[in-house]
Amino acid sequence: MRVMSRVLAAVAWPYANGPRHIGHVSGFGVPSDVFSRYMRMAGHDVLMVSGTDEHGTPIQVQADAEGVTPRELVDRYNRVIVEDLHGLGLSYDLFTRTTTGNHYRVVQELFQGLYDNGYIIAKTTLGAISPSTGRTLPDRYIEGTCPICGYDSARGDQCDNCGNQLDPDQLIDPRSKINGETPEFVETEHFFLDLPAFADQLNAWLDTRDGWRPNVLKFSRNLIDDLQPRAITRDLEWGVPIPLDGWRGRDDKRIYVWFDAVIGYLSASIEWARRSGDPDAWRQWWQDPEAQGYYFMGKDNIVFHSVIWPSILLGYSSPEAGSLGALNLPTEVVSSEYLTMEGRKFSSSRRVVIYVRDFLERYDADALRYFIAVAGPESNDTDFTWAEFRRRNNDELVAGWGNLVNRSISMAAKNFGEIPAAGELTAEDERLLAAVRAGFDSVGRLLGKHRQKAAITEAMRIVGEVNKYFSDQAPWKLKEDKARMGTVLHVALQAVRDCNTLLTPFLPHAAQKIHGLLGGTGVHAPMPEIVEVEDLDNGRSYPVLTGDYTVGAKWEHVAIEPGTPLAAPTPVFRKLDESIVEEELARLEP
Ligand SMILES: [Zn+2]
Repeated sequence: MRVMSRVLAAVAWPYANGPRHIGHVSGFGVPSDVFSRYMRMAGHDVLMVSGTDEHGTPIQVQADAEGVTPRELVDRYNRVIVEDLHGLGLSYDLFTRTTTGNHYRVVQELFQGLYDNGYIIAKTTLGAISPSTGRTLPDRYIEGTCPICGYDSARGDQCDNCGNQLDPDQLIDPRSKINGETPEFVETEHFFLDLPAFADQLNAWLDTRDGWRPNVLKFSRNLIDDLQPRAITRDLEWGVPIPLDGWRGRDDKRIYVWFDAVIGYLSASIEWARRSGDPDAWRQWWQDPEAQGYYFMGKDNIVFHSVIWPSILLGYSSPEAGSLGALNLPTEVVSSEYLTMEGRKFSSSRRVVIYVRDFLERYDADALRYFIAVAGPESNDTDFTWAEFRRRNNDELVAGWGNLVNRSISMAAKNFGEIPAAGELTAEDERLLAAVRAGFDSVGRLLGKHRQKAAITEAMRIVGEVNKYFSDQAPWKLKEDKARMGTVLHVALQAVRDCNTLLTPFLPHAAQKIHGLLGGTGVHAPMPEIVEVEDLDNGRSYPVLTGDYTVGAKWEHVAIEPGTPLAAPTPVFRKLDESIVEEELARLEP
């Protein structure tokens, strides 16, 4: 018996400083959508949330460089990213942003709860001031050499070369970006999250985690061995204000972006509930001990999800839970590795990049979804090449699945004009139908364990069996035996119907189309929509992704109905010409 449950799909928050490239969406986007679609089809109650991550120094630096305000910059890229994710068909229940009034309130509530429980400590640190003006120099205006990797343009809060977080006084040869002078360091107060206080609880929790990808578990354990208190406020004007007396009104100190962004999973769930008409609905995914929570991200974000976010949840929930009540820890942190591009690291500045929107202008979303599922960086780094993308599209999607759909439906349409009835089934007929139906178990089991590469390989193996059946039975040679021809086509169409369901989490756009080609009506694979909403707390408007995913196919065999009219099909997938490889390579920097 299948056990239904509530499943939170918590998807990493894309940073709103530019459009997303296909490396980004291969890590967090497509895998979380495949999982959520499957779990919904299997009868679980899924809540899939995320949004754009919009605070922090890099946003402010980029806004300064473009001569716009941070808000203008994030308004622009929030919209761009919403459109990118919509184009890929990612079925968020709510994709929102971190600059909402709701998010500010939830972040401040968690800060307050941690503070009340004694896990946020004020510490005196060294902050930079400009010797010529005597004023505080925000982190973004300090540059110097990274003490870890030696990069000579590291910022006061982070090195963009090695990705390590820094404090301004750690920089070698620090200088002001405004006038080049050497900043003076004076004592200033900041707040730190007392991470070492959670080490034992984190280790005990990780001991109970079976089934995580081994690299994620090992990496997380190593992090716990070396925990230090971590700054959660910065010298910065762009961010969530500190909710404590004496700090609330200050415009030079803000909550650090990483602390506010991880809380987005909770704030987005609460925003979703408030918009649903039942403001407490989020509690079913966060407080019911039976509810499961899966977090999707690239490997550079593991620390935030397997150490820092669980620490925040533990510290807010005990010894005294804050006003929201005690909160669940993640069930699993599902981290992927990196996708490279033609053997190189993605780099927007060096044009080793393909943006989602550019991709979707020239190719279909499902062609990319297929590539990511079958060849993406699930458990090791993988490489995207245009030649391999074209080969998989043409040889597997078009020649394998697309061809089966096309030839079975067009032959039935031409000879019967409808789904023919089956006569007596032969042993081969029975064997094929059983093999396809077994896929609901084999493919489903792999999808439930985040083994998407194995899952789609298994689904395509079944497609291969149906293709072989079709070739072996050669219905085109049965013109003299119309009854047997009808039986073979009936069996083939039934197999196509079920294979289409097996492939729906991966290829939702194609699945909807094939559903229609088989004479089906209504929604088979529900799609997200972009809805313009008003902020629940301050009246600003912004676009969100949301949708009704309660409709659509279930993860089960459905018998086709003889007599359903069929028309000659149009191709579901597009074959790609050899010339696209050269064209695309020419767009990259040599
Ligand atoms: Zn560095």
